[in-house]
Amino acid sequence: MSTQKKYRHIFFDLDNTLWDFNRNSVETLKELFSEWVAPRLNIGVESFIDVYEKINHQLWNKYRDGQISRQQVAIDRFTLTLKNFGIDDETLAALLSEAYIRRSPRKTRLVEGASEVLDQLKSRFHLHIITNGFLEVQIPKVEHSGLGEYFETITTSEECGCLKPCRKIFEFALGKAGAMPNESLMVGDDPEGDIKGATEAGMDAIFYNISGENNPLEALYCIRNLRELLPLLMS
Ligand SMILES: [Mg+2]
Repeated sequence: MSTQKKYRHIFFDLDNTLWDFNRNSVETLKELFSEWVAPRLNIGVESFIDVYEKINHQLWNKYRDGQISRQQVAIDRFTLTLKNFGIDDETLAALLSEAYIRRSPRKTRLVEGASEVLDQLKSRFHLHIITNGFLEVQIPKVEHSGLGEYFETITTSEECGCLKPCRKIFEFALGKAGAMPNESLMVGDDPEGDIKGATEAGMDAIFYNISGENNPLEALYCIRNLRELLPLLMS
């Protein structure tokens, strides 16, 4: 990358870019299922997780659009999943919700190559995180997984009141970092939230294309593995 020397700050998305949300979440849901759901419901854990993930996704979209609160997302994703399987039990939903929020951020699986890449980048760049999520969940993820040592600032959507791709969250994060957009690079796995959002805020962006599907036009580069960042940024 001929322009590499202009970057001083690198901003990373957290979930599924560094912290392996998919695997950590499934691991948590499997525990909750076997402890509290399996005794009452004769279905496989995969069906439970499938339904939960679809409902969770829909609720996050409503939250992003300002239609529901974060508390509703946290509880309703379990209330509605249980209802889908014929269990109408607010108490159980509240218990699952509380246990999920307490346990999942303590999971420590990282995306392949994350520590190795951050170790090297840290010697040359100021590193930061911009994440859509709840403060009480995202901060423990960073701390428990050992990511904390790499990052100078962490910005969550909750503290600045809007979610990526909203321009305000990028401006908020740049301000917190003391960084200018033209010396900053965003790395993330969401073409809309991370790549389009960062680009609209005047930053360059690298798309971590884990699925190999659509490459956003705005991305400066698309990578399939985090390790590809090293030759691009360190050479
Ligand atoms: Mg992500």
